[in-house]
Amino acid sequence: MTRTNLNHTGTSVAIVGAGLSGLCLAQYLRRNGIDAQVYERDAAPFARPQGYRITVDADGLGALRESLPAHLYDLAVAVAGRSGGYFRFTNQHLREAFKLTFEETEDGERQMDRQVLRSILLVGLEDRVHYGRKAAAIETGSGATRLRFEDGASVTARVVIAADGIGSALRDQILPGGGPADSGVAGIYGRTPLVQGGSRVLPAELDRSGVLSLGGRSGRAVFFTAMEFSQDPKAAFAERVPGAPVVDVGDYVMWGVVMPQSDIPAGTAWNDAPALHRLAEAIAADYHPAVRRLISAADPEATILSHFAVGRRPEPWAIPNAAVMGDAVHAMPPFGAHGGNTALRDASLLGAKLVAAYETGGSPSAIDDALAAYRDEMIPYAFKAVDMAEGMMRRLTGSKGVQKWVMLKLLPSLHRPLVPTG
Ligand SMILES: Cc1cc2nc3c(=O)[nH]c(=O)nc-3n(C[C@H](O)[C@H](O)[C@H](O)COP(=O)(O)OP(=O)(O)OC[C@H]3O[C@@H](n4cnc5c(N)ncnc54)[C@H](O)[C@@H]3O)c2cc1C
Repeated sequence: MTRTNLNHTGTSVAIVGAGLSGLCLAQYLRRNGIDAQVYERDAAPFARPQGYRITVDADGLGALRESLPAHLYDLAVAVAGRSGGYFRFTNQHLREAFKLTFEETEDGERQMDRQVLRSILLVGLEDRVHYGRKAAAIETGSGATRLRFEDGASVTARVVIAADGIGSALRDQILPGGGPADSGVAGIYGRTPLVQGGSRVLPAELDRSGVLSLGGRSGRAVFFTAMEFSQDPKAAFAERVPGAPVVDVGDYVMWGVVMPQSDIPAGTAWNDAPALHRLAEAIAADYHPAVRRLISAADPEATILSHFAVGRRPEPWAIPNAAVMGDAVHAMPPFGAHGGNTALRDASLLGAKLVAAYETGGSPSAIDDALAAYRDEMIPYAFKAVDMAEGMMRRLTGSKGVQKWVMLKLLPSLHRPLVPTG
């Protein structure tokens, strides 16, 4: 993909990062007639392996409904997995401690493939997303806000929104000292095609289930769940948005192996897929054979490493005409599946605030009030999710506690393994 020329002067909203929140905000603004441009560091929309599924809950679905044109929202729901099913907590032998049951409802939470969702969020934004543009800094003063890229190019905009994820390059300027804390815990994520050699890799007993399987060794756990598309994404795109590109992906099981960061050999790169796959297999070596088979049968190239971080409550934005959203401001461990949902919620909230400010003339003070109001409303829901995710991670991966003993020993001892061994 070639890079577009940047002749954007005085764009209304410059969004940094074409991830979930950046694209969702761009859709919201486009739908309301506001000029927004998105700058993405990757060379192309699907340049990196990021192919995991996310559970989109009522918050995420609500944000997508408010931001996307109706036909794109319908497309997202049409290809997503069915709502309903189970979430099972087990020990490493797949003996269940307890399960949560979710009813199948029209608007219930459902699984979406992150790259398919990004494909949908990109429809209609083709001329507004600029790849190979790594933002480096914001310059303020003399009336305009200038966004500078690493390659020396720059654009001016009325507002700059940093939606550039956990390693945000702009956060230090907008939120000095606001970077997330390292949790000391990490996850290796992978994916395994659901059907191999004509049979499903997931035993029938685990159909429609997410499983969090706590390890015998302190701090270790394995999580897995299937991404089963209700409709093949390629076919659904061809029918509903002909010509729009979509990633080529079939049904798969996403799994994650959670461990203390000290279990990862020093210098292991986040995308050294073969080494990470071997490490995931080694860590799951004392797990139920069904779990081991699932990890062994993975597409090794799709394995990635993620260090879990915990965001800090933001101070007021330190520079005018700029704000931060999504993981860049409220990173959270992936316990409870709220990171992406919270990022989508930010996008629709911030979109609504900016639209209201532009509708009343878009004066600098109206825009700064809108950005401040977004921050004030975002903090309570986002940091409730951060606190919950961190608390859950500590309880489930900590070494002590009655709750852990009940989860790992007492309750599982009352049940047979969900899947017979052998
Ligand atoms: C394996 C896994 C499973 C998950 N499951 C769930 C789930 O079930 N439910 C859920 O709610 N959340 C889930 N999450 C979390 C969710 O994916 C994130 O919270 C979400 O993607 C955050 O969205 P974002 O827009 O803030 O950032 P991102 O989606 O990370 O997007 C940031 C974008 O900014 C770009 N960028 C970075 N730096 C720059 C720069 N300097 N200049 C320009 N562009 C830049 C990046 O390339 C990227 O495209 C999961 C995460 C992982 C890793």
